[in-house]
Amino acid sequence: MKIRLLTALMAAASIHVSAQDSVMLRKISNEIMLHGTCYDNLRVLCKNVGHRLAGSPEAARAVKWGERAMREAGADKVWLQPVDVPHWVRGEEHLYVRGEDGRKVALSMLSIGNTEGTGGETWKAPIVMVKDMDEFSKLSDDEIKDKIIFFDYHFRQDLIFTFEGYGDAVKYRWLAPNVASSRGALAVIIRAVSTGEDDYPHTGAMRYMDTVKRHIPAVAIGNYSADLLVKKCKQGEVIGYLSAEAHMLPDMVRSYNVIGEIKGSEHPEKIVVVGGHLDSWDVGEGANDDGTGCVQSIEVIRAFKALGIRPKCTVRAVLFMNEENGLKGGLAYGDSAKARNEQHIFALETDAGGFSPRGFGLKMNAKKKAQIWRYKNLFLPYGVYDFSRDEGGADISPLEKMDVPTAGLLPDPQRYFDLHHTDNDVFENVNHRELKLGAVAVTGMVYLVSEHGLK
Ligand SMILES: [Zn+2]
Repeated sequence: MKIRLLTALMAAASIHVSAQDSVMLRKISNEIMLHGTCYDNLRVLCKNVGHRLAGSPEAARAVKWGERAMREAGADKVWLQPVDVPHWVRGEEHLYVRGEDGRKVALSMLSIGNTEGTGGETWKAPIVMVKDMDEFSKLSDDEIKDKIIFFDYHFRQDLIFTFEGYGDAVKYRWLAPNVASSRGALAVIIRAVSTGEDDYPHTGAMRYMDTVKRHIPAVAIGNYSADLLVKKCKQGEVIGYLSAEAHMLPDMVRSYNVIGEIKGSEHPEKIVVVGGHLDSWDVGEGANDDGTGCVQSIEVIRAFKALGIRPKCTVRAVLFMNEENGLKGGLAYGDSAKARNEQHIFALETDAGGFSPRGFGLKMNAKKKAQIWRYKNLFLPYGVYDFSRDEGGADISPLEKMDVPTAGLLPDPQRYFDLHHTDNDVFENVNHRELKLGAVAVTGMVYLVSEHGLK
């Protein structure tokens, strides 16, 4: 009996987890599930501001919204950190195809972000279909020159963790316009990087490589449109008619990261960051990407204040600007942290949707990971169990490069890539309980790290 008691005591001492932590997580959960304001905040952001691509007037309004929401949450200090961002605009666009039957059919399309369009003119050219890069590389120069190349690469539905499927398919969004341009193609169509059983096209970023001379138009089409185009290409020659006004404006625009802070009571110099990104694509409402991450980060501040928690370390909620098509906010935050010699002990990003939380990705050394793993049991009552993945977040990647331990909230990933970067990423597709549970998970993790440090 004595030995068993001793073993239990030793185990308890070594895991830094106390009954008090468990009680505090329950208090945090009750506060957020019963009185949380994150869902109301998300409604205002989505419905009153709407989508908010960096550099746009809507993004400027989102900054004002974020500043106000952070103050209402009760942050000790709220400030705006200047960030210069690119400003890309979409304009009017359409894509028609005419196949063997002679009928002209409109496809559901979106220009890929950061691309140059056709200057609003209609470009007409034969469409050449390939299923992947390998097949493209086997085409002769004649088969590519002045053609519209259609990359029919599918999001791999066999991969259960959809972020793996995204990582696999998204290279077509980044690479296809570059490789096609370097071999003389006129334009590129890709099958949207989408798990969706629907016809929503997905936009998202690309970047023309420095070595690529012609910045050719590139568009994504919905899965049903892609299926139709495949069918037509198999029947015979298909002519595409593409018109797009998309272009990058020459000047950068002054914008801001929005930051709210609660000063640490014992170690104010040690900073724990929690954040999401305030910008979104210029379609839908940027609800799951990443309105949910913003309102969950603000909820951390609100819940701490409502419960009278005085964190030992400084807790900072950051709404980063321009994650989608430049990462300028994350870079500015990292540069400022370096210039001020700030001591960040942990950074957590929530940018994977407002779905039921399942776990945390961790990017840190083995010793620190082991400490976080010891908190696992505290999260089990909230359905959060997977701490096995190596995931952080794009906005906090500059901190990661400075050796700051980083982490990412991992919600259930099955629906995210149906909605991501589409017209369908709207407030109505966020569930209030799932969103709040995510806020409980991030607030709990921020509490534990600010209380115990990360050694
Ligand atoms: Zn995002």
